[in-house]
Amino acid sequence: MIGTFWRHQIEAADLADIAAKVENGDRLSFDDGLRLYRTPQLNVVGFLANMVRERLNGNVAYWVRNQHVNYTNVCNKGCLFCSFYAKPKDDPRAYVMTPEQAAQKVRNYGDVPISEVHVVGGVNPKLPYSYYLELLHAIKAARPDAHIKAFTMVEIDQIVRAAKKSPREVFEDLKRAGLDALPGGGAEVMSDRVHEDLFYAKPDAARWLELAREAHLSGLKSNATLLYGHIEQTREKVEHFIQLRQLQDETGGFLTFIPLSWHPEKTALEDLKAPTGVEDLREIAVARLMLDNFPHIKSFWIMNTAPVTQSALWFGADDVDGTIMEYEIIRDPARDRKQVLTSRALVEMIVEAGREPLERDPLYNIISRGLEGVSDVETLLSQQNADLIQPAANLGITQREGVTTASQLQKEKGREIIALESAAIPNSGRSVGASN
Ligand code: SF4
Repeated sequence: MIGTFWRHQIEAADLADIAAKVENGDRLSFDDGLRLYRTPQLNVVGFLANMVRERLNGNVAYWVRNQHVNYTNVCNKGCLFCSFYAKPKDDPRAYVMTPEQAAQKVRNYGDVPISEVHVVGGVNPKLPYSYYLELLHAIKAARPDAHIKAFTMVEIDQIVRAAKKSPREVFEDLKRAGLDALPGGGAEVMSDRVHEDLFYAKPDAARWLELAREAHLSGLKSNATLLYGHIEQTREKVEHFIQLRQLQDETGGFLTFIPLSWHPEKTALEDLKAPTGVEDLREIAVARLMLDNFPHIKSFWIMNTAPVTQSALWFGADDVDGTIMEYEIIRDPARDRKQVLTSRALVEMIVEAGREPLERDPLYNIISRGLEGVSDVETLLSQQNADLIQPAANLGITQREGVTTASQLQKEKGREIIALESAAIPNSGRSVGASN
């Protein structure tokens, strides 16, 4: 039931018809999505998104105690928005962890009750199929009590090629090796135009959706993301939502949608500016309203910042992600520190925002409530780890050679895009790049 104050706000924003649909639980259209992006009344969009969020998830905000393992940064896709990937031949940052090295990283946190190991990396065509199976086996053996969430659909596409098997057979092999769920990256923006301009070497939207469908039909849950804030257009973002919504209608296999705020620093597009906090909040809110069949919307604090994430919990988000040990893809640019939040900091962040913290596993089984999940051991290890600056070359990892890298031609193309589009793109100021 919407009160008088908000009725006036909604009418002033000319969104009464959309509000009626939201109240009735009716599906929003493509045009509704465009209007939610274009209205200057972000407070109204947030109010409507919060209605849906509280209808689905009440006052709860989920968090997870997780560790990221980025097993290689070698990648032959050369996405122009990415600062994570390395060229193996002439880039001292290039690395590939052996399965045992990845397992050792997991064992380093053996005293911390982690429930999720999140495993993603670059697309390295030199890795054989057996590598991925051994990687999962080794991590599972090191941490049998944790779920393994691994490999975006872009990596899965490469693994399927290496396996020379069908996607369904590969998913069955990966499950037997320890895979429990899949993350959401890789689709970026489901637009042929953006795909051609920024990440043409990666699988297109049709292939991403095909592999996600196969994963769901194999019994695996996955997430989905949208990388925003570069050259994408509003209509392309709305179309992205509709394609995801259609697949979710078909399979029910998506758990969480995560809008990813793009970080331009050290990418081929670093002349562009990153999204603002206001844009981040709108992405969360529009996603919550358009993706009516997704159970959860996450504000990934490491991308959105912790303060924006606190606000996002009132703009449609019900999940903040987690403690994120060992995350390599986005670093704190000011201090080059690994970014972590302790379990206590996460819980306190949620409580201060006025929500009820629930610790979950990757499948949203409840592990603890409130401060029950806080661990002093983890707090100590997190702080120690954050203070260690560890260049990849010093991590005891293996450099590999012979991998095709992003072409200079593609980078030149990116600069042309900047020249053509920068005047029309809304700007702000943040940092670093994206990956799987
Ligand atoms: S976003 Fe992923 S696929 Fe693209 S270059 Fe970076 S690591 Fe490679």
